[in-house]
Amino acid sequence: MTDTPPDCFSPPKPLMTEADALTALKSTLRPVEEHETRPLHEAAGLYLSQPIRAPRAVPAHDNAAVDGYAVHSSIFNKPPPYRLPVVGTAWAGKPLETSVGPAEAARIFTGAVMPSGTDCVLMQEHVSAQNNLIEFSVNGREGLNRRLAGEDTGLNEAVLERGDRLGAAALATVASLGIGEVSVYRPLRVAVLSTGDELAEPGMAYRPGTVYDSNRPLLRALLSTYPVALTDLGSAADTRSEVERLLETAARTHDLLITSGGASTGEGDHVTSAVQSAGELHLWRLAIKPGKPIGFGQIGACTVVCLPGNPVAAFTGFVLFIRPMLSRLGGGPWTVPRVWRVKAGFDLKAKKPGRCDYLRGSLISDETGTHVIKFPKDGSALLSSLRHSDGLIRLPEDCTALSAGEMVDFIPYTELGVPV
Ligand code: AMP
Ligand code: MG
Repeated sequence: MTDTPPDCFSPPKPLMTEADALTALKSTLRPVEEHETRPLHEAAGLYLSQPIRAPRAVPAHDNAAVDGYAVHSSIFNKPPPYRLPVVGTAWAGKPLETSVGPAEAARIFTGAVMPSGTDCVLMQEHVSAQNNLIEFSVNGREGLNRRLAGEDTGLNEAVLERGDRLGAAALATVASLGIGEVSVYRPLRVAVLSTGDELAEPGMAYRPGTVYDSNRPLLRALLSTYPVALTDLGSAADTRSEVERLLETAARTHDLLITSGGASTGEGDHVTSAVQSAGELHLWRLAIKPGKPIGFGQIGACTVVCLPGNPVAAFTGFVLFIRPMLSRLGGGPWTVPRVWRVKAGFDLKAKKPGRCDYLRGSLISDETGTHVIKFPKDGSALLSSLRHSDGLIRLPEDCTALSAGEMVDFIPYTELGVPV
C-alpha cells in the first residue's frame, strides 16, 4: 500500500472552470413545479407552462392597410384616368355588407374588412373624391395595400412554447389571438442576505470602520427585471450561528437564496460552512476573477448561491451564474449571453493562465472602427468601474497576454438584460 501524502504536500487542486460550473448547474437545476393561471395583465415576464396554439388566424380577415378606396384590380387593364362611383363605406369594425362591382369603389378605412368584389386599396392621398365619385390616375395591382388573413399568425400555428418568457411581444401576440389568460410557472421566491460585521444600512449615520451595504441594493435592482417574489433578509453579522439560523429559516420558504460576503476562507467567513452544515455545498471556488469564492449549494429544496462580498464580484456572479439559474428555476430556458468579438484597444502584459478574467470595458467607435478599452483600474470593490463601462471583457483561461488590435470577447450589459 502506498502512503497517501499529507494534504499540505498535495499539489494544489485546480479550481473548476466557469464553463464546467455552468454545465453542472444547467444539468442539475429543475424548474419549480407549480403552475398557475393568470390574466394577461398579471403575466408579464413569467414563463409559460403550456404551449400556445392559434385558435384563429390573425388577422382574421383580409383588410385594408391604409385609409382610401377599395377597388378590383381588373380596372387597371385599361389606361388611366379612372372614374368610379363609391357604393358604400367599410369601417374598421363595421364591414360593408354589400358586394362591390368591377367598375365600382368602396370607401375604406385602415383595418376594415375588404369588401367582397375588391382586392386592392388606393390611398386616399392619390384619389380626388366628389359627390360619391372618385377619380385617379395612379396604377394599382392585386393585393396593393391589402393585409391578408393569417399573414401574422396562421390558424393552429404553434405560436409559443412551454418555457417561453412572456415579454411585451409575446403577451401582445397572445392577446391578438383572443386569449385572455395563460398558464405560467409561479414566480420564484427569492431571498437576499448580506453578511459582514462591517456593514451599515444606507441612510444611517456613518460610524468609523463601517461599510454601507451596497450589495442588497445592487442585487435587488438586478432582480427587478425578473418575475420574482423578493424577500430582503437584511444583513447578518459574521457569526456562524446567526448565518446558519437565517439560511435554514429562509430556505424553508424560498426557492433561491442569494448571500453576499463571507464566502471566502478567512476566519470571519462563515457562509459556505453554514450552507454545508444546514444542507449541501455542491460547488465552491471557481477559476474566475473577480468572484473566485462563489459557492453553490442547497438547503432542502432551496438553491443557495453564495456570492463574494466585493460588489463587482457580486455583480459578475449574478450576471454570469444567477441570471441563467433564475431562468431555468423559473421555468425558462438556460440562457447564454451573446458574446461579441471586438478589437481590443489596450495591451495587457500578463494574465494568469488557467483562470477566466472579466474586465470592465467601454466601446469606442472612431474612423478606424469599433474597439473596446478597459477601465483603468481592475479592483473588484470599484462600483465606479461598472458605472463607467458598457460591458464585460472576457479573457479566457488560455489567454496569457493581449495586444491592442487583437480580437477579444465582449459581453455588453445590454445583452445581459439587467439594469446596470
Ligand atoms: P468578503 O467577501 O466578506 O470577504 O468581503 C469582501 C469585501 O467586500 C470586503 O471589503 C467587504 O467589506 C466588502 N463587502 C462585503 N459585503 C458587502 C456589501 N454588502 N456591500 C458592500 N461591500 C461589501
Ligand atoms: Mg466579510
